[in-house]
Amino acid sequence: MIIVLLGAPGAGKGTLAGAIKDELGVHHISTGDLIRAEIKGGTAIGLEIKSYVESGGLVPDEVVTRMIEGKVKATAADNKGYMFDGFPRTSAQASDLDKVLAANGLAVNFALYMEASVNVVLQRLTGRRVCRKCGALFHLTNMPSKKEGVCDSCGSELYQRTDDNTETIMKRMSVYNEQTKPIIDFYKAQGKLKTVNADTGADDVRKALIAILNGKKY
Ligand code: AMP
Repeated sequence: MIIVLLGAPGAGKGTLAGAIKDELGVHHISTGDLIRAEIKGGTAIGLEIKSYVESGGLVPDEVVTRMIEGKVKATAADNKGYMFDGFPRTSAQASDLDKVLAANGLAVNFALYMEASVNVVLQRLTGRRVCRKCGALFHLTNMPSKKEGVCDSCGSELYQRTDDNTETIMKRMSVYNEQTKPIIDFYKAQGKLKTVNADTGADDVRKALIAILNGKKY
């Protein structure tokens, strides 16, 4: 099963993937996580792309596509499938993903468009907290950790992403509207678009995805 998660920053893509990837047995590939790991590791790529992330802009397509290509090549043979989170983010990346998958004898089954309203995503992003070690996601009020500032899963420190401040969030939203939203039509034209209401809680979205999978509507 190969699923692309589409939606604005804060729509809940990472939360959904975290909640369902083990159940589905798929690889969860988040380009945001891959990019943050490069930056944290101080690699040559990390140094090259840091400023794009900090300003709320997009990392160049060819850099991100190369990351995805490497991941897919390394794992395609195990036939587990994928949940792509935060990729593709431009029309060029959507075409590149089809090519990378086709080169490995694979294709996207469907894109899940997680439709969320602006007020909801702003509230989610400003209150989001992330575990420094395992990447688990929390929210100050919607999904608080049991002990403030401490990860429930591994006990490490929670932090606020540097790009989760109001100014950068506004930039990310406009980048999303201009460059990422058109991808909805890309998948619609392929007959591969499924839309769910992502203003509801994480569990409702998870149930909606399970219903789509059980209905074999893809
Ligand atoms: P995310 O964790 O998905 O919110 O991504 C955080 C940041 O990483 C984005 O604001 C972009 O700067 C960068 N990024 C993540 N995925 C992509 C992508 N597919 N294409 C370009 N930039 C990306």
